[in-house]
Amino acid sequence: MTDPRPAGGQRLVAPPGIPRPTSWLPATLAGARRENAAARTLAFDVPGWPGHRAGQHVIVRLRAEDGYTAQRSYSIASAPGGDGSGDRIELTVQRLPDGEVSPYLTDIIEPGDQVEIRGPIGSWFTWSPTAGAPVQLIAGGSGIVPLMAIIRAVNGTVPCRLLYSVRTPDDVIYGDELERRSSGSRLAVTYLFTRPEGRRISAGVVAGATWAPEVAPEIFACGPSGFVEAAASLLTDAGHPPATIKTERFGPTS
Ligand SMILES: Cc1cc2nc3c(=O)[nH]c(=O)nc-3n(C[C@H](O)[C@H](O)[C@H](O)COP(=O)(O)OP(=O)(O)OC[C@H]3O[C@@H](n4cnc5c(N)ncnc54)[C@H](O)[C@@H]3O)c2cc1C
Repeated sequence: MTDPRPAGGQRLVAPPGIPRPTSWLPATLAGARRENAAARTLAFDVPGWPGHRAGQHVIVRLRAEDGYTAQRSYSIASAPGGDGSGDRIELTVQRLPDGEVSPYLTDIIEPGDQVEIRGPIGSWFTWSPTAGAPVQLIAGGSGIVPLMAIIRAVNGTVPCRLLYSVRTPDDVIYGDELERRSSGSRLAVTYLFTRPEGRRISAGVVAGATWAPEVAPEIFACGPSGFVEAAASLLTDAGHPPATIKTERFGPTS
């Protein structure tokens, strides 16, 4: 399978079975919970939400009283139809101290407040329940968010491995849920703590924490651009066909 995206851009027309992006929809914050000191999960009620596939993201638009708007991309953390409410989606936002939008979402917005949401977006970086292959997930920092949606959607139906690179144990998002889900035999989690020793993803880390190419896993890697590029190149060096490696880069929204 080859990447169906046109060079330099996202596929514009969703293939059959993948929900298409809506126009802007009002979204009301229904609830929020803190994941760690910097990250918060937000549950939004979005009437008219068309559903999503694990791996997709949305654009959140904030509007000030003077009409100024700011918008950023956020991955959907909840599994499709996750909580039984078809109109509810969960996002997890990590605060960037000098950021414009993320501190509002992690520290200020309260239940009952409204934003606008457009989505779901993305057709390549999605997991399909019909795929059947073992799943290899590689997360850098907040890149865990769409991978958590995949773990929740997989829900033990196929074997799954997660390599999670994060600064320190205090920066882990979804730690309790990952521990609970990995107590069975269908999910294995390996943490790579990059601080204080400055450890980085390497051929040795990949060899120890990921499926071998012979297992033919479907691979999803998400995080900062440099991390994702390093992971993808180590995986191809290890013998994984590039077409089996799906990547999503978190960076400033263009
Ligand atoms: C497809 C996609 C999905 C995303 N999903 C998530 C998600 O699930 N959770 C989440 O927390 N974030 C996610 N992001 C990142 C998010 O869109 C914003 O970039 C992030 O919240 C920062 O926005 P801000 O307004 O606070 O910072 P800005 O005001 O935009 O930027 C502040 C400073 O930080 C730098 N910067 C901006 N974004 C990043 C970044 N991601 N990493 C490092 N430096 C950055 C800027 O260059 C600038 O110097 C995603 C990005 C993309 C493209």
